[in-house]
Amino acid sequence: METAPPELIAKYEAVIGLEVHVQLATRTKIFCGCPTSFGAAPNSNVCPVCLGLPGALPVLSREAVDLAIKGSLALNCKVARQSRFARKNYFYPDLPKGYQISQFDEPLAEHGWVDIVVDGKHKRVGVTRVHMEDDAGKSQHEGFRDSASYTYVDLNRSGTPLIEIVSEPEMRSSDEAFAYVTELKQAIQFMDVSTCDMEKGHLRCDANVSVRPWGQSEFGTKVEVKNVNSFRFLKLAIEYEIARQVAVIEGGGKIFQETRLYNPDTGVTVGMRSKEQAHDYRYFPEPDLVPLRVSEKWESEARASMPELPSLRRARFVESYGLREYDADVLTASRASADYFEEVVRTSGEPKLAANWVMGDLAGMLKPLGKEIGESPVAAKHLGELVAMVAKKELTGPMAKDVLAKMFESGDSPAVIAQREGLQTISDTGAIEKIIDEVMAANPKQVEGYKAGKVTLIGFFAGQVMKATRGQANPQVVQELLKAKLS
Ligand code: ADP
Ligand code: ZN
Ligand code: MG
Repeated sequence: METAPPELIAKYEAVIGLEVHVQLATRTKIFCGCPTSFGAAPNSNVCPVCLGLPGALPVLSREAVDLAIKGSLALNCKVARQSRFARKNYFYPDLPKGYQISQFDEPLAEHGWVDIVVDGKHKRVGVTRVHMEDDAGKSQHEGFRDSASYTYVDLNRSGTPLIEIVSEPEMRSSDEAFAYVTELKQAIQFMDVSTCDMEKGHLRCDANVSVRPWGQSEFGTKVEVKNVNSFRFLKLAIEYEIARQVAVIEGGGKIFQETRLYNPDTGVTVGMRSKEQAHDYRYFPEPDLVPLRVSEKWESEARASMPELPSLRRARFVESYGLREYDADVLTASRASADYFEEVVRTSGEPKLAANWVMGDLAGMLKPLGKEIGESPVAAKHLGELVAMVAKKELTGPMAKDVLAKMFESGDSPAVIAQREGLQTISDTGAIEKIIDEVMAANPKQVEGYKAGKVTLIGFFAGQVMKATRGQANPQVVQELLKAKLS
């Protein structure tokens, strides 16, 4: 399939709307008591309800509703006092009931938004709705399209609770779409609504993409791109789709409404079904469930249990700790890392120094292990103690780095390690003076140079003193004594 070159793409504006499915972090399924645990033996977490056996009746999980409410609030949505489940009818081997229980014209929540920043520009993207639904099972193909091909059906996932988050068609580039899903994921994770683990399919994303010539007010015909299983692929799939659509239009063709699949191996989207082949879901109100009523009390309890959301926490880090925006971004990447950082601050009373140590030395040690700040083997309280020791000049920078490496290995507190290693800042002026005398005696030329006006040589002397004390001399005391002795 042909794609248009950049100079042609530049004549068009892209319009993007996203549909994101998020698996709620409940212990049990949405309409039965089966566990939602991942990786169990096929068809072991099932019962008559999630197998869709005749006569089995669904019972809505309160925990699922609670998480769906929190997810809606995290996305600034207005929760409906009453919503209703609806049957979405279609046949699929991994959908044993022959329909999905979803919500249609009366969703749980509407009218929300997600704030994004792209290239320093702030933008608010509307969230049309958040609705609840159950997930289907999984089909596993073996020897697909061979003469001997089999499809196995695993219904462990059948009945897992999901929310679908539908955005307004308000994004205009793949970067904006990327920023939107990133913000959305962070907000949902902060609320403990979902792990959003994409590898386990806990967050799935479909992109609706259209293009229109700049200046045209009507939208072009949209294409839905399914099967995008990472944020990087989302960006690539959208970029490919824009270039493809422009090529079709510039070549005199027309875009028709269809569903396409993104193939990450080839980097292209392939037509799956056209509008004519689209399912007619024949939605109707689910007769086995009463309407869902969320009282004001329930909503306000959910609201009260909300942690500070990432965007607010970022702003507070900048304002009350004086951090740079970039640092605040990194430190609030997850709730665990933000919590970690704040405990280091609480213990040390030194926000900026704490940020330097968390993002610098600690992050550097975690990176090769593929671990995040929140998973650090160094307890936040211990790092806070180390930062405090540095601030009080009980440890010099190089000594503290040494101690941190040992904390990382042993999990011991910095005080214990410093004592065990005999690491202590030497602030005793008598001891330092003695070393300075030795250094000066060993380097008469440099002493002469200094006295002749080359005052920058002080750095050389300081370095020699530090070397002689294995980095333990208090640098301030060294500076003062050097100045006095040399002049
Ligand atoms: P459908 O009826 O096909 O489900 P919706 O109007 O419900 O379509 O929209 C589904 C998604 O597609 C939403 O995220 C919406 O923002 C997006 N969308 C709608 N129209 C367009 C368009 N012309 N271009 C891009 N995205 C669109
Ligand atoms: Zn079940
Ligand atoms: Mg729709």
